[in-house]
Amino acid sequence: MPNNLLRQIPKVDSILESAGWASLVSVCPEPIAKDVLREHLDSLRLSIREGRVVAVPSIDEIVTAVGIRAAVLIEPGLKRVINATGIIIHTNLGRSLLASRAVNAIMRVATGYSNLEYDIEKGERGSRYDHCRSVLRTLTGAEDALVVNNNAGAVFLILNTLAEGKEVIISRGELIEIGGSFRIPDVMKKSGAVLREVGTTNRTYIEDFERAIGDNTGLIMKAHTSNYRIRGFAHEASSEELVALGKRYNIPTYYDTGSGLFYNFEDLGASGEPLIPQELKKGFDVISFSGDKLLGAPQAGIVIGEKGCLGAMKQNPMTRALRPDKFTLAGLEATLLLCLDAGSAAGIPTIRMILEEKGAVGKRARRVASQLRKRCPDAGVSVIDVDSEVGGGSFPDMVIPSVGVALESRTMTIAALEAKLRHLPLPVIARIEKERLILDLRTVLAEDEADLVAAVARAFENDR
Ligand SMILES: *Cc1c(COP(=O)(O)O)cnc(C)c1O
Repeated sequence: MPNNLLRQIPKVDSILESAGWASLVSVCPEPIAKDVLREHLDSLRLSIREGRVVAVPSIDEIVTAVGIRAAVLIEPGLKRVINATGIIIHTNLGRSLLASRAVNAIMRVATGYSNLEYDIEKGERGSRYDHCRSVLRTLTGAEDALVVNNNAGAVFLILNTLAEGKEVIISRGELIEIGGSFRIPDVMKKSGAVLREVGTTNRTYIEDFERAIGDNTGLIMKAHTSNYRIRGFAHEASSEELVALGKRYNIPTYYDTGSGLFYNFEDLGASGEPLIPQELKKGFDVISFSGDKLLGAPQAGIVIGEKGCLGAMKQNPMTRALRPDKFTLAGLEATLLLCLDAGSAAGIPTIRMILEEKGAVGKRARRVASQLRKRCPDAGVSVIDVDSEVGGGSFPDMVIPSVGVALESRTMTIAALEAKLRHLPLPVIARIEKERLILDLRTVLAEDEADLVAAVARAFENDR
């Protein structure tokens, strides 16, 4: 019986000559289609031998199956999704979206030659590290600035350059883990610096730092507790105290501020995130922060501070291993230029999403809801108040009042609906709350609303 079936499998040549195959290879490179076909026929033979297949598929059926599999292979794995979670700096969904000025700047250096490492003035070799330097100095008042691949890289490079083989004094309450295995004690070990933790989890005084200073102290470090707050019976040494202590003992001071905040959100009642220019003014020798958190720029680690410290970092061979590419530098510089003026900074998508008035989000939510009511008869659609979050370990205390669309289904479980939306060609990422699927409009771009409606309609349609 199996042998009989095996003989009935269409010959490869007849598959390759079929009309279906011709139309498949008009949209998919033939070598890929052939590989998939080979695998498909192998597994078909195996299934027949094991008795799992009792009827041999036709040529058309085989070509259709191969087409579905090949389409998955040639589709880019990294793709656009709609973020309906309400978490603005969503690390899993790519953190910050770029301002159109930044995108244009990236396009220019991507499609043409640039002076990446060329000094146009002198007509000779220049340095890629010069590009964002001047705008960073203007924005922050720093003597010097250096851009590396990300802030984790910046932390490593600073510790390795300023404190290899020496002790770094840091409060026990600031031995942070950011997630994705970034922990200060581990990075410190890899950098060759020796951790000297002082104080207790909730209370650390400047005297604790002072008592720990010795012949082998290389650095006094402060790390922003980005994703948590210690409240209640708590005390920390202030930036001013740490800086004064460093100056008295001639030890450099470093503040890892996490998010690169330049925009003052205090009008929103949001506090607790260090403003970069203010912190630098307090006198830290070195400050580092991320490009793609509150700054709203491409992924980068930005180091600003005293020119002796930064000069030493530029000499470190590890700097080359952490260097940013030209797209990063172009996008970052354009974003920083927008930050020079508070009015244009509000045009950076991350900042704009934080600032968007609840009323405006509500209007968009009602618009989406009314379209969904028309297109999805099996859906229960309501407009509800929700809380958005900044995310990215920034402003962990702040909830931003927002408006969302809550979906219920008469035909599917809510988990099935959530999964269906995730598996669409344009995936929609949403969250489940109290047996409803919540689409928070704050993180859905106005220009993506039509795509969102179409995606949800499709998830309900498939079900009918
Ligand atoms: C986010 C963060 C980092 C890591 O920055 P990446 O840009 O993600 O590498 C380091 N330190 C602090 C305090 C942070 O918040």
